[in-house]
Amino acid sequence: MRDTWPLLEPIEFPPIRRGHVETLQVNLGYRCNQSCAHCHVNAGPNRTEEMDGETIDLVLAFLARRRIPTLDITGGAPELNRHFRRLVAAARDMDVHVMDRCNLTILEVPGQEDLGEFLAGQRAEIVASMPCYLLENVDRQRGKGVFDASIRGLQRLNALGYGRPETGLVLNLVYNPQGPSLPPPQAALEADYKRVLGETHGIVFNHLFTLANMPIQRFGSMLISKGQFAGYLALLREAHRDENLDGVMCRSLISVDYRGILYDCDFNQMLDLPLAWGRRERVHLSELLDAEVARNPIRVGGHCFGCTAGQGSSCGGALHEAAG
Ligand code: SF4
Ligand code: SF4
Repeated sequence: MRDTWPLLEPIEFPPIRRGHVETLQVNLGYRCNQSCAHCHVNAGPNRTEEMDGETIDLVLAFLARRRIPTLDITGGAPELNRHFRRLVAAARDMDVHVMDRCNLTILEVPGQEDLGEFLAGQRAEIVASMPCYLLENVDRQRGKGVFDASIRGLQRLNALGYGRPETGLVLNLVYNPQGPSLPPPQAALEADYKRVLGETHGIVFNHLFTLANMPIQRFGSMLISKGQFAGYLALLREAHRDENLDGVMCRSLISVDYRGILYDCDFNQMLDLPLAWGRRERVHLSELLDAEVARNPIRVGGHCFGCTAGQGSSCGGALHEAAG
């Protein structure tokens, strides 16, 4: 895989600083039952890196000590980590809002048959990737059979009450473009998804978040191989809007890797750009139990235009429409 950082580092991006940490985003490891073409963490079935029990305990201590309201759990397929359910249950016991970034097909993996029931019982929010409502587009990006398995997963979650406003069980979907283009307007696409998935498969969900593809890892490497990297970066830079800088997720989120090392966001984690703090090369979660990082400068590069292009992309989808 080609390294994109040497191409991203020289690109200037406006300086930004942290606000208060509202969300702890925890990457439980890179193992996944899928190997999607656009995956920015380069996850797959053969990856072995995963967070151990001691680091999970530290995550829980951090949530408690710093009174962090939201735990955002990601991977790989985070549910494959053996400590996943303990982490979710303990965080919920502290009344922390838990988001599980779920790939939907995991619901059919042997040993995960009761995952939907577990998540519903904990009242965890589910954020699920669904890059299109058409079979051929999803299977091309995420693998053969993924569309049908995702539909079955959504139907199973709906049967548990997810995506139905009266239950309060939140099911949000995430869209990203197939290739090197900006996502279309979020509200219109959400309406299309609701109509097609509802009419064709009887599926309901709360919101659709549209995210731009990041020019890093597998997707970035593919752009370099196809000679499209510079063109995609130019597209992101031309579409940059200063007003999106206030809403980028790194201002209110800290990302933790499976070892407990801290980053400004998941994308910086994948570029191996640790959080800058004093003269430290790497900062561990254990060192920030009592320290404050508000006003800390964020490590930026050319990839950050993926967050500020057009309607903007945060972990909550388009910035303008998410705010509106
Ligand atoms: S399901 Fe998610 S984590 Fe797994 S390979 Fe696909 S994009 Fe990566
Ligand atoms: S990629 Fe986005 S979230 Fe990450 S540091 Fe850049 S602007 Fe912030």
